[in-house]
Amino acid sequence: MPPGKAQAGPHPERSPQQRQQGPERSALLVSSLRYTASSLFSVFFPSDCRICSLPLTNISRLPVCPECLDTMARFQGRTCAICGERMFSFSDEAGEQLCGECLAEQPAFRKASAYGSYDAGLRELIHLLKYDRIRTAARVLGRMLAEAVTDLRQEFDIHDAVVIPVPLHSSKLHSRGFNQSELIAEAGLKGAPELRVMKLRPQLLKRVRATESQVGLTREQRQANVRGAFAVTVPDEVRGKNILVVDDVLTTGTTVGECARVLRKAGAAGVWVATVARVMKPEMTAALEPLEAEEALAMSAHAG
Ligand SMILES: [Zn+2]
Ligand SMILES: [Zn+2]
Repeated sequence: MPPGKAQAGPHPERSPQQRQQGPERSALLVSSLRYTASSLFSVFFPSDCRICSLPLTNISRLPVCPECLDTMARFQGRTCAICGERMFSFSDEAGEQLCGECLAEQPAFRKASAYGSYDAGLRELIHLLKYDRIRTAARVLGRMLAEAVTDLRQEFDIHDAVVIPVPLHSSKLHSRGFNQSELIAEAGLKGAPELRVMKLRPQLLKRVRATESQVGLTREQRQANVRGAFAVTVPDEVRGKNILVVDDVLTTGTTVGECARVLRKAGAAGVWVATVARVMKPEMTAALEPLEAEEALAMSAHAG
């Protein structure tokens, strides 16, 4: 183990194995005592919201205030019919509208659905789970994921569909202690009874190679970076199936696109994607337009 990795390891009390253990009495007692202690602690020493830093008034296992949670709304703008990227100009033609990237090369997945834009509070909530390891955030994120999945329900038959979280490489899994996408998918299916007909099968896809950060790479470089990074472990369980690939954030779609490519190569009937958040193109600065309009008005006034 390289130096410095030890402290990044998961807290021993919170290993997934232990969470799945049977309800042993002593463990239960300890955990309920700990819970009571932390509840009392938050009554007498209320903590602050981890997003806005204002004191929390209610006792919650998630250290985020209701006001911050309320800001994490669904994305409302117009989006590409395949990848979900924000679009500014739509033609008047009826039917599906695609972004430039999808027009240039259609992804291996049929459609990607995201709950919200990866910014402000939603980004911080995902970071709380991923980097601060506040696992209670997975429940809220799971609810958001379920909404994104619900949007895809008319796209394919979810009965017998297989849900596969984007896998982490084993080195990252060990240092983080959990796969955030798996926790979110688990919470999402658990919290939405109508989605429980889908089967969560994280082990069907494996990340066989660690990949470099995709930041600053061209599309070709990104594709080369993830090419061969994933492998299907049991092709028989993928063949002929509708697959839903789940991730916390969709950045450019290259990673989920590569997952979809190997799943289809293994015989999947179709692959769809659901994520909690999606990196959206920044909003156009609307400041220029009113200025031009004002100038035009002033000019016409002078002319008159
Ligand atoms: Zn807050
Ligand atoms: Zn697109």
